[in-house]
Amino acid sequence: MQVKNIAILGSTGSIGTQALEVIGKNPDRFSVSVLTAQSNADLLVEQALTFKPQQVVIGDERKYQWVKTALAHTGINVLSGEAALSEVVCGDKIDVVLTALVGFSGLRPTLAAIQAGKDIALANKETLVVAGELVTKLARQHNVNILPVDSEHSAIFQCLQGEEGNAVEKIYLTASGGPFRGKKTEYLSSVTKAEALKHPNWSMGAKITIDSATLMNKGLEVIEAKWLFGLDISQIDVIIHPQSIIHSIVQFEDGSMKAQMGLPDMKLPIQYALNYPLRLKNHFERFNFLNYPQLTFEAPDKATFRNLALAFDALAQAGNMPCVINAANEVVVAEFLKGSIGFLEMSSVIEECMTRVSYINSPTLDDYLMTDMETRNIAGQLVTKY
Ligand code: NAD
Ligand code: MG
Repeated sequence: MQVKNIAILGSTGSIGTQALEVIGKNPDRFSVSVLTAQSNADLLVEQALTFKPQQVVIGDERKYQWVKTALAHTGINVLSGEAALSEVVCGDKIDVVLTALVGFSGLRPTLAAIQAGKDIALANKETLVVAGELVTKLARQHNVNILPVDSEHSAIFQCLQGEEGNAVEKIYLTASGGPFRGKKTEYLSSVTKAEALKHPNWSMGAKITIDSATLMNKGLEVIEAKWLFGLDISQIDVIIHPQSIIHSIVQFEDGSMKAQMGLPDMKLPIQYALNYPLRLKNHFERFNFLNYPQLTFEAPDKATFRNLALAFDALAQAGNMPCVINAANEVVVAEFLKGSIGFLEMSSVIEECMTRVSYINSPTLDDYLMTDMETRNIAGQLVTKY
């Protein structure tokens, strides 16, 4: 079997480090071509010494010299800055680019990788939220696979294997409900960053953990699913499933439903995407029915968790509106993590941005870049009002 060469954008994060665990356990299947990190230079160097990629990128230019010196004896090429990400994904040897960086920053390197004909293992859902139409169109033109890493989308993707030609009636994206499931507005008005960062089932980066607490994560995933699977908004439903065992469900036109399930462990969807279409044997903990005598389901509370309703609304409005909610959300989550804005105010800022940013019906890449900037400016001003 041929070894797949992997480039990991965001190798020091939650997804990145779990991907390296999978790769480390399967040296006969994978090798690492590129590793990148924004600021964790120590871990990047440690990873580079272990996995011996051809290139590494440290986003923070102040740390470039340190990384270069630490890797001087290795022959590894060290680069720095944002533009370097779009360069390194194009290397001849790379087979798959795992996009495990956070937010809008994933858009340009993902477009560059697609243009270079690289398959994408997509964790960075924000890229599809911002510019799903543009990205999926480019992928079709370049005959590139976009393989979902997000657990819900991996579940849908796995359920669709062998179903070519069979129409999907709808999909259900499952959601744990996060740490504040069942809570009402009054309670949410005083929750803290520390409480919001305690996810019941998954250990993830800070931004997605806050997005899970507000249900924005599920809203972003609805938009991600629309583009990955070519669905209409009316075909996408969200169901709260607090145990996170059923990772998502496809319902076909005959009413038959297929679900993909297992213990929550991101290494599984990561390795499925990296080794697609073949599964890889592993020794991850197996699910035991008797430990879960009840799997339960509830409707999401969109009136309390307004971000989910706003995301559906943005998708219905289409154009640059999903880009607007993404940018506004990135700003408010960063401010919430700094303690300068409350939990509920995050939705208020996002909603106001949706009415204030100029609407564009069929955005180009430049329009998305402008929309992102305009929204960040407006959201930044709005935050100071609270
Ligand atoms: P994280 O914060 O743990 O890690 C992010 C990584 O990206 C780090 O290596 C960091 O150095 C790098 N990075 C951050 N900002 C950057 C920037 N502006 N430019 C370049 N590099 C940057 O995040 P994570 O939890 O691993 O999530 C990564 C992506 O995967 C997100 O889009 C998230 O929504 C998605 N995702 C994560 C999980 C999970 O379990 N963690 C599950 C599903 C989807
Ligand atoms: Mg998910």
